Amino acid sequence: MGYVDEVIERVVAKNPGEPEFHQAVKEVLESLRPVVEANEALYRKEAILERLVEPDRQIKFRVPWVDDKGQVQVNVGYRVQFNNSIGPYKGGLRLHPSVNISIIKFLGFEQVFKNSLTSLPIGGGKGGSDFDPKGKSDREVMAFCQSFMTELSKYIGADVDVPAGDIGTGAREIGYMFGQYKRIRGMYEGVLTGKGLSYGGSLARTEATGYGLLYLTDEMLRCNGKDIKGKTVCISGAGNVAIYACKKAQELGAKVVTVSDSNGYIYDAEGIDLAALKEIKEVKRARLTEYKNYRPNAEYHEGRGVWNVPCDIALPCATQNELTLEDAKALVANGCFAVAEGANMPTTLEATKYLQENGVLFAPGKAANAGGVATSALEMSQNSERLSWTFEEVDAKLKSIMVNIFHNMDDAAKRYNFEGNYVVGANIAGFEKVVDAMLAQGVC
Ligand code: NDP
Repeated sequence: MGYVDEVIERVVAKNPGEPEFHQAVKEVLESLRPVVEANEALYRKEAILERLVEPDRQIKFRVPWVDDKGQVQVNVGYRVQFNNSIGPYKGGLRLHPSVNISIIKFLGFEQVFKNSLTSLPIGGGKGGSDFDPKGKSDREVMAFCQSFMTELSKYIGADVDVPAGDIGTGAREIGYMFGQYKRIRGMYEGVLTGKGLSYGGSLARTEATGYGLLYLTDEMLRCNGKDIKGKTVCISGAGNVAIYACKKAQELGAKVVTVSDSNGYIYDAEGIDLAALKEIKEVKRARLTEYKNYRPNAEYHEGRGVWNVPCDIALPCATQNELTLEDAKALVANGCFAVAEGANMPTTLEATKYLQENGVLFAPGKAANAGGVATSALEMSQNSERLSWTFEEVDAKLKSIMVNIFHNMDDAAKRYNFEGNYVVGANIAGFEKVVDAMLAQGVC
């Protein structure tokens, strides 16, 4: 049995009941086979893979808080500090009832490679709780966040571990957590990212993931002899990533014809009206059915089906596993030549394989949506030097990071004879830098 298979088998045996973590380890390690096989003797001797799949530490704690009726509630908090070979641990805090140690470990493991790929000095971690902010009053959310941070504050710090937002953790939650950290530790430092602009947040963080997706897509097309200008683009989702992907795609001269939410999708043959979309989603917080009030010629379709609309470029920006094998077949049949993932894991494994086998340029989320975490790292830099950069400065840095990410993954794929396979390229490029740092730092 090869080294990769041995380690996968050991992870499954030693971490029972953690299916998401098993899946992430399998997916990443299998795509690393070329680099592992080329260096097998050294990696085995140094136990590189065994060290990579075992987090530096995983912290689990009780989070008691009092609800509005005076009842004490108890949630579970987690922080998994996975690997800090190239910088302080960095990764979001997820607040959702589905959160468990398997999900936090899967996300933390993936984060190690994504963060490395940005070329910025950030290690990988993830945390969260099974607390559900939905339906809670502001006071209840604050009570939870203060209790959560009372414990978490013992393990984090600007040079140690810098958590950020994620599902369920937005500006409100980050604010409450930052306030509590400051109070307990008696220091003002950039210990969290995703902060409000009045207390250390970064300009362009809101736009970063969508804009970054388009910067990388643009570079991928350019390097493959294509031009985004004049192309038809289908986007799924109508949230933060989708809105700013739509904006930048239009600025680059593409025509975006769809957006969607969990109820249905809009097809606007004349091109999505961004101002209308932003008003519906960001101001009114309404459903996409409203869009027809602004654009009577647009079509609203109930249910899935966004990938049946003919396009040149598809940008899934909604949720995991939203682009299936059937969707991939429809995209290929309609002449789509590029897919770039704005969401995390939106394309199923079978769909990814089908797209790649049919010559579609495919940029995985690990690379394509890294603009969010990259801009969080830029927030850390601004906090460290106690300065705030202008929107244009942050945006220019974001663009150069995304272009660089594309070339890193492209070069890694070429070096191992997987030219054009950006899934393999992204994993290898992220992995190489971490391993290099681990080897240089000795057995630790
Ligand atoms: P939002 O919550 O702002 O938006 C998500 C959008 O997807 C909403 O329009 C939502 O519709 C839609 N959606 C959710 N579930 C489905 C579904 N089953 N079918 C169709 N549409 C659906 O999230 P973000 O835009 O921030 O994030 C989108 C994705 O990008 C996630 O996978 C996230 O992890 C990833 N990501 C986000 C980053 C960021 O900086 N925001 C950074 C990196 C990755 P509805 O309103 O009906 O729920």
